[in-house]
Amino acid sequence: MREFVAARRGELLADLSEWVRIPSVSADPERSSDVQASAEWWAARLREAGFPTVEIWPTAGAPAVFAEWPSDDADAPTVVVYGHHDVQPVDPVELWESAPFEPFVRQGPHGEEIVGRGVIDDKGQVLYHVYGLAAHLATTGRTSPAVSLKLLVEGEEENGSPHFRQLLLDRRDRLGCDVVVVSDTGIFDRATPSVVVSMRGMVRARIDLTGPDGDLHSGQFGGAVPNPATVIARIVARLHDADGRVQLPGFYDKVVELTPQQRELVERLPFDEAAWLQTAQSRATYGEKGQTTLERIGARPTAEVNGIWGGYTGPGGKTIVPSEAHAHLSFRLVADQDPGDVGAQLEAFLGALRADGTIPDGIGLALTVDRPGVRPCSTPMDHPALGAVVRSMQKAFDTDEILFTREGGSGPEADLEELLGPVLFMGVLLPDDRIHAPNEKADVELLLKGAEAVAHLWADLGSTAV
Ligand SMILES: [Zn+2]
Repeated sequence: MREFVAARRGELLADLSEWVRIPSVSADPERSSDVQASAEWWAARLREAGFPTVEIWPTAGAPAVFAEWPSDDADAPTVVVYGHHDVQPVDPVELWESAPFEPFVRQGPHGEEIVGRGVIDDKGQVLYHVYGLAAHLATTGRTSPAVSLKLLVEGEEENGSPHFRQLLLDRRDRLGCDVVVVSDTGIFDRATPSVVVSMRGMVRARIDLTGPDGDLHSGQFGGAVPNPATVIARIVARLHDADGRVQLPGFYDKVVELTPQQRELVERLPFDEAAWLQTAQSRATYGEKGQTTLERIGARPTAEVNGIWGGYTGPGGKTIVPSEAHAHLSFRLVADQDPGDVGAQLEAFLGALRADGTIPDGIGLALTVDRPGVRPCSTPMDHPALGAVVRSMQKAFDTDEILFTREGGSGPEADLEELLGPVLFMGVLLPDDRIHAPNEKADVELLLKGAEAVAHLWADLGSTAV
């Protein structure tokens, strides 16, 4: 397996370079023909790889690519592999060491790296599936995979997947499966191969306060009318208690606490807080009392003030009582919280602040909640396919110990789980790959490990009852 994959190292890098040269930035309307070209490139590559069915699925936005290769084994499980072919914008472009869409290979501190926008997020992680499948077929002598394979590679992930849920609903009859494998995540670090087992959900909200109809002279009127800037500060100050717990009524009701065994698994990760703080560019950690940093990120829900503004913010001073004030908030959710509950919880929270006088008469309030929000998503720890993922990673990384990580971020995985089935994560991205930032890179050796792991996975899942 390893030899088969290693022999194709140059071919994989050439393929990846060709694909990365297509600037498929989904957030930029001027790049929409490039996103289309990227879909076509990938579709052509899949046909070349032997997929009997390859289709470009248009959406109201950018196209997705679907491919299918059924197994000849009648009782083989069906797997949907999810990834995306669009990429993040490249600015600030002056911080790139070379042109972002002219990928190049260089010797990094830990081996060869390929640098360019999308090399790991997510084109590299999608591409290794072609090589993994080829390795699976070659090393088993099969003419069809041991699992019925469906690949769904969307074109709008970096733009918030605005049409992805509708795509899943429209194409549900084509996407039936036993499990979903997501290849858009990574491992804990180079020395600690691991498997992601959960991602958080998210809800965003905005609060707009109004006071007097116009800004007022703070001498003539200040101290005698309510000030919306003061009130917005009071509201956000009440979001957490002194222990860092979110104060929306019922916020924690559906939170599934980690079991002692799951906490122990988190503790096993070789977390270096000093290094993490350096990455965070923060002087200290802070959060919900009684939780470790990794738990706070991966296993606990949060409320965050993303921005707060109002009144005069320019140079010098301006002695006014402002007429309005605003805040952007976001909430990260964990299993089994429902994003649909957060709006009502926020309304109840603000209603209580109105009742106790924190939001006084004379202050108008508008709450806007982005619905439906994103649900949290997690792999059932006792799912037999998770065992297959772990065994495949063990083989690819020559280790007995594969740890589990919990992602703090949120994505379309929750829709996959809700509409298609249990979601498993298999990815080889590194925390220092600088995704979404200048000089994004992929560790070439890890791309090959990804191909290897996938090849093991199809063979293993083919004989696992899922
Ligand atoms: Zn991605």
